[in-house]
Amino acid sequence: MAYRRRSSIQMQAATETVAVAPASSAAERPVKPRTRMMRQYDLVERVRSYNPDTNEDLLNRAYVYAMKAHGTQTRASGDPYFSHPLEVAAILTNLKLDDATIVAALLHDTIEDTEATRAEIDHVFGHEIGALVEGLTKLKRLELVSREAKQAENLRKLLLAIADDVRVLLIKLADRLHNMRTMEFMPPASRRRIAEETLDIYAPLAGRMGMQEMREELEDLSFFVLDPEAYAVVKQRLDSLAERNRNLIGEIETQLSKNLQKNGITARVFGRRKQPFSIWTKMERKSVGFEQLSDIYGFRVILDDVGACYRALGIVHTTWPVVPGRFKDYISTPKQNDYRSIHTTVIGPGKQRVELQIRTEEMNQIAEFGIAAHAFYKDGAGSPHERLKHESNAFAWLRHTIGILSESSNPEEFLEHTKLELFHDQVFCFTPKGKLIALPRNANVIDFAYAVHTGVGNSAVGCKINGKFAPLSSELQNGDEVEVLTSKAQSAPPSAWEALARTGKARAAIRRATRDAVRDQYAGLGRRIVDRLFARAKIEYADDKLKGALPRLARTSIEEVMASVGRGEIKASDVARAMYPDYKEERLVRYGAKKSLTAKLKTQNPPHPARATSVIPVRGINSDLPVKFAPNGGAVPGDRIVGIVTPGEGITIYPIQAPALKDFEEEPERWLDVRWDIDETMPQRFPARILVHNVNEPGSLAQIATVIAEHDGNIDNIHMSRQSPDFTELTIDLEVYDLKHLSAIIAQLRAKAVVAKVERVNG
Ligand code: MN
Repeated sequence: MAYRRRSSIQMQAATETVAVAPASSAAERPVKPRTRMMRQYDLVERVRSYNPDTNEDLLNRAYVYAMKAHGTQTRASGDPYFSHPLEVAAILTNLKLDDATIVAALLHDTIEDTEATRAEIDHVFGHEIGALVEGLTKLKRLELVSREAKQAENLRKLLLAIADDVRVLLIKLADRLHNMRTMEFMPPASRRRIAEETLDIYAPLAGRMGMQEMREELEDLSFFVLDPEAYAVVKQRLDSLAERNRNLIGEIETQLSKNLQKNGITARVFGRRKQPFSIWTKMERKSVGFEQLSDIYGFRVILDDVGACYRALGIVHTTWPVVPGRFKDYISTPKQNDYRSIHTTVIGPGKQRVELQIRTEEMNQIAEFGIAAHAFYKDGAGSPHERLKHESNAFAWLRHTIGILSESSNPEEFLEHTKLELFHDQVFCFTPKGKLIALPRNANVIDFAYAVHTGVGNSAVGCKINGKFAPLSSELQNGDEVEVLTSKAQSAPPSAWEALARTGKARAAIRRATRDAVRDQYAGLGRRIVDRLFARAKIEYADDKLKGALPRLARTSIEEVMASVGRGEIKASDVARAMYPDYKEERLVRYGAKKSLTAKLKTQNPPHPARATSVIPVRGINSDLPVKFAPNGGAVPGDRIVGIVTPGEGITIYPIQAPALKDFEEEPERWLDVRWDIDETMPQRFPARILVHNVNEPGSLAQIATVIAEHDGNIDNIHMSRQSPDFTELTIDLEVYDLKHLSAIIAQLRAKAVVAKVERVNG
């Protein structure tokens, strides 16, 4: 068990021989870096000591491969870089992990930092190891993203979501542990950042995975970096206490062992003290001084089997007085992370309170090494099938444990729990500022935008994923950094987004925004109709006056009146009559009789500058408003357009050059300012009509159809009429994206020898 460099036994020995440092001296690092680099045979020996069937050839090949791949690279300390993966592998041998894990540990930095590729590793070491190394590469890339410590819980979930093999996490923790042990050569700023991250994310992760030794070492190493003075104080106090109570601890150990032996029980007994970081946090949490901490010392009694544990408990309880309320039996009722042990506190020699943990060797291994030992003891080194089973068992166990331990008393408890149950169904992404957003798997940028803020969702017009432009409908991947581009010009999202969004929050927000936008549009339309009528009738309109008339219109607000007029539910003349009871509907006054209105429209835009309050956006046929396009060659985006209102029916959109507009010249109140508002990320087709005069020769029609198809035009209908023996006139209804598209098709048709003339038809 070389992993526990600071194991209780070794620490005990150390405190007996090392003098307590004077108060002024600098703190000793929690762990001294290894002085001699590990060798190839050391590693193989370590693995063979717990796994006699290890594939030595595989280990040796991985050793050589990684050493060559890292070549002359060096670490901040000046050591060869290869010493790092080697030490990481060594840490994992203490967890008695399988060959694939040890090999993957040796290779863990090769894809990211050397010429090695996933394909090559697959080829040389097989798919299983390739997948492990790839998993670590993904986690490493994730580290480059900026972080907010507040979201540590989500970040741990992200780590777990990305690492789909528990061995990836174990290697990652060993990697972090070795980096923490050897960080004295790093610049102070990165040392702090790494230590904070370790304390926020990796140490708790190790703890939640049940690996308490790993957690303690990570904590103490971080504590040393982040607050060297506090570390020094606590460490010195712990050391001096250990010195003072040295005989006491030895005495208790001896007495316990002897008593047990007398009763025919063989036991390993050793004293243990809490680590500096946990003492410090306890002092801070309870606002107590060092002296008031009663459980600085604990003893472990390790026995052969469960029966012996209970017999030992009986002996302890009859030897020393029991402190009430401290007895807990986690053997009969294990903790949710599978921790098993009996806890009791007695008043030992010298009236010292002594905490005892009584457990079997297996329970001790699980408590110390967590999942790795758990899997090892549970299934041993069985058949490949067995191993696979225990791996999936272990993984399920890990997720189960993390799920339960993550249950917290905060208000989001229920939500958190639900999320964890759908754990692998989640995807975790970052904002450019490093805020982490958790979304269901398959979620896209629209969901992300609404998760950030409803306002961001409503005004989203584009996005960048990991710095590259992407459509808003792009499905998100774990770790993506998403920048949502917004526009103030977009007040409401396209209603089609509702079908694209995956989250309830986004869908509800889109529906609400769309409904509000439609209401606003109808209200704007209604106000326009009312304004026109009042202007024509030369009567004064005032909001206050309409307010007084609301009961007569059976409406509760001006907005509602205007929306009702827009929808055609009430007439503008009803509004006038409600405000002026003696108002009589007059015959229409001619408007601009001298000059053709359509001619005017052709020269100015917008056509009616009367009130620029509400220009109705036209989003296409599937608009929220009842929008139609003029028959016989409607308008396509890019055309200058005008809307003709038929109250109660809706708006018909005409291109301003449409001859049909003449029919409405005498009804100026029906003219509406409209503009295109097309979402370019969701292309839509619009109907258009063209007239083609072509030379009568075999295959000419096919040529024309081919040109249209080649340029992505959809032909809906072709009507052919022979004008002369030489020419045919074709009326073609087709669907195009916009005016540019239509013009391109017309230009291509004109270039054909068989085509004599092409023109667009508008109504
Ligand atoms: Mn590494």
